[in-house]
Amino acid sequence: MRAAVFTGAGKPLAIERIPDPVPEPDELLVRVTASGICGTDLHLSDSGAMLSPGSVMGHEFAGEIVAVGAQARGDWRPGERVAVVPNLVCGRCVACLDGGDVMYCPSARALGFGEIPGGYAEYARAGSGEVVRLPESVSDRLGAMVEPLCVALHAVENADLRGGARVLVIGAGPIGLGVTLWARFHGAGHVVVSERAAGRRELAAALGATGAIDPGAQDVASAFEREAGGPPDVVFECVGVPGLIQHAIDLVRPRGEIVVVGVCMEEDRWSPQMALAKAVTLRFSMAYRVRHFAQAVGMLGAGRVDPSAMISRTVDFDGFSAAFEALKQPGSDCKVILGPAA
Ligand SMILES: [Zn+2]
Ligand SMILES: [Zn+2]
Repeated sequence: MRAAVFTGAGKPLAIERIPDPVPEPDELLVRVTASGICGTDLHLSDSGAMLSPGSVMGHEFAGEIVAVGAQARGDWRPGERVAVVPNLVCGRCVACLDGGDVMYCPSARALGFGEIPGGYAEYARAGSGEVVRLPESVSDRLGAMVEPLCVALHAVENADLRGGARVLVIGAGPIGLGVTLWARFHGAGHVVVSERAAGRRELAAALGATGAIDPGAQDVASAFEREAGGPPDVVFECVGVPGLIQHAIDLVRPRGEIVVVGVCMEEDRWSPQMALAKAVTLRFSMAYRVRHFAQAVGMLGAGRVDPSAMISRTVDFDGFSAAFEALKQPGSDCKVILGPAA
C-alpha cells in the first residue's frame, strides 16, 4: 500500500510503498478514506519524539471496513464506513468498560504515534470495539473530523457549563474551534474566542462564536466584558504555551472554571494564591472516550453540528507531503485532509 512514511526528525514525509498492515484476530482492517493532519503530528515529525524511521502517523481518520478478524467484537461487515478511535485496547478492563476510556486501558496501543501505523496510509488496523459506524449523511471528510471534535466535546463536557454561560476560548485552532462549536451546542450564551490570526477569528464566527478578540491588539479582559457583559464563567485554554493558565486565572470570574486542553510541553508558572483567592476550578481534559465518538457521529449525522468550515482543503498522496510541510508555517489553513475532494 501507499503511505506517508516518517524518515527522520525534520525531514519531509516520504510517500512510499510498504506492506499492508495485518490485523490481529480481534481487529478490523480499514481502507482509509479520509485522514486529517493534526498539529501534534507536525511537532512529532520535527522532533522525532515517539517515532522511528518507517513510522506512519495519522490518528484522525475514517475508512471502510475491508476485513473482519475472527474474534472481532461487534457485528461488523466489509463495506461498512466507520470513524476510527485511534487506539487498540483490550475491551475488558475497568477503563475500557467505562464508556471506552481508551487512553487509560493498561494494554492500550495508539495508532499513528510510532508503535502501530496510523491513517496516513491506504489501509490501517482498527480495534473492533473502537470504531463507530458513519451514517450516509456523514461524508468521509467529516468522518475524519470526528476525532478532533471528540477532544473538544470531552473538554466541553468536563466544564460545568450552564445555559447562557459566558465562555472564553483561548486559541482558535481545530480544538478551540471545536470547543466553540460544542459550547454553543451545550447552550452557552456567549462564546468569545481570543485568537491572533485574523483568518481563524473569522472561522470561529462560522462555527458559532458570538465574538472574537485579537489578544495582540486588544486588552482581553475589557474586550471580553464588552462582548459578553461580564467576565467569563468558563475559560477553555486551547493553545498550550507557558503563561496561558495564569492568563485564564486572571480573566475568569470568582468561582469560575478553567479547562486546559492545550498541550504545553514546557514548564509553566502560575500563581496558586490568585487561583485560591478566586476559588477557581482548574481542570485538565485529555482525549475522549469511545462513547464521545458515537455522540459526535450522531450529532453530525443529524445535522445538529457542522464543522465543515474547519476543513480548508483536501490533498491526495502526491500533494500530501508538501501540504504537511506547509502547515508548519503560519498560514490560513485550518484542517487539511488526505482523501477525496469534497
Ligand atoms: Zn489530533
Ligand atoms: Zn482495556
